[in-house]
Amino acid sequence: MSYVFHRMPNRPLPIAVAGDGIEVIDSTGKRYIDASGGAAVSCLGHSHRRVIDAIEKQARQLAYAHTSFFTTEAAEALAERLIKAAPAGLGHAYFVSGGSEAMEAALKLARQYFVEIGEPQRKHFIARRQSYHGNTLGALAIGGNAWRREPFLPLLIDAHHVSPCYAYRGRLAGESDEAYAQRLADELERKILELGADTVAAFVAETVVGATAGAVPPVAGYFRKIRAVCEKHGVLLILDEVMCGMGRTGYLYACEEEGVAPDLLTIAKGLGAGYQPIGATLVSDRIYDAIVSGSGFFQHGHTYMGHATACAAALEVQRVIEKENLLANVAARGEQLRAALRERLGEDPHVGDIRGRGLFVGVELVRERAGKTPFEPHRKLHAAIKREAMARGLMVYPMGGTIDGQHGDHILLAPPFICTPDDIDRIVARLGDAVEAALAAAGQSTAT
Ligand code: PMP
Repeated sequence: MSYVFHRMPNRPLPIAVAGDGIEVIDSTGKRYIDASGGAAVSCLGHSHRRVIDAIEKQARQLAYAHTSFFTTEAAEALAERLIKAAPAGLGHAYFVSGGSEAMEAALKLARQYFVEIGEPQRKHFIARRQSYHGNTLGALAIGGNAWRREPFLPLLIDAHHVSPCYAYRGRLAGESDEAYAQRLADELERKILELGADTVAAFVAETVVGATAGAVPPVAGYFRKIRAVCEKHGVLLILDEVMCGMGRTGYLYACEEEGVAPDLLTIAKGLGAGYQPIGATLVSDRIYDAIVSGSGFFQHGHTYMGHATACAAALEVQRVIEKENLLANVAARGEQLRAALRERLGEDPHVGDIRGRGLFVGVELVRERAGKTPFEPHRKLHAAIKREAMARGLMVYPMGGTIDGQHGDHILLAPPFICTPDDIDRIVARLGDAVEAALAAAGQSTAT
């Protein structure tokens, strides 16, 4: 019996007592390699001395000051660092405590922007069916995960969904990247026109899809075409980089690789690396200026926004990433990880796709490879893989989900940026064993 809500009877969680580099240690002394960074959070691993010192220094000096009275040096320095590195046009950082809060702020900023500039009829949000944007009501409404939304449907704002960019299942045989991207951009444009072009506020997408489908990158050129459609119809582009941003793909902002700058960009997870809860919405000058010269105030706010200790932690995380040149390590270790996964699992008839960018890697499992037929949901293969991995001292982030009526089991890997080549080999060895054991238990021998 536990008084902690998230330790329910059907989830007998071990008790984590310590962290050491890329490992978490439980109360029995067992070590787990954190190959998912929790949920793509712990990008510097655990117990990082420099980040802990920065937190202690800030907490001793001033832990918290409410944003209606003060700004702080930590918030100012963090915003400057993030904005100087951000895609063109993003000029201001709005600090909150996590990913869902960052998404709520983005949605409300988009809405208030249109009210300020005299287009209050713009109220529709369009997102993609394969997406997760958070669990608060606004973020949940735009998310595309039917299972998560279902019980709360009567409470959700009206959001509209189009097809994801999901090359593994969505691209037609023989279709080029260019043609596939164009087909998806055309679908978005049709949806905008169907709703009435002057009634749509924003299109929302994860630059690289995370929790719903396991590190699905867009095809080349997709976001440039999407951006063009949005601009043509005066629709804002909101990119959700809560999971894929802050260096996870080998770029500080994943959209750098797409050559696209959004109007609003959300980040969280890796921003504070788990040392403090923090997220941010980066806001374009255009939106910021409209609010400043309009009502002069963003009608929103949270008690802990711009939290001094959280900002100090995030600032140190970002300094460490730069000083230790960790983005280069993310790119190199990511290549190594995908290559090692292909070597170990690539020939397995139940491994449909190995994909991702940087240290943001997904493995999609199928019952039958040629037809990409998913496993039956009742097998809960993803849950079995998690169990087998934990038994072997490995944390991975497996998911099962329904996208366009297809049930898919995926494993998401998001190891810390500090991983060594040897760490990657250990992760792949343990994961390979866990996947094989779970498939065997599901009555699906990996032998053909
Ligand atoms: N957006 C994305 C892309 C996410 O992956 C998540 C969290 N998994 C969120 C938003 C919500 O973030 P949080 O859980 O910090 O509220």
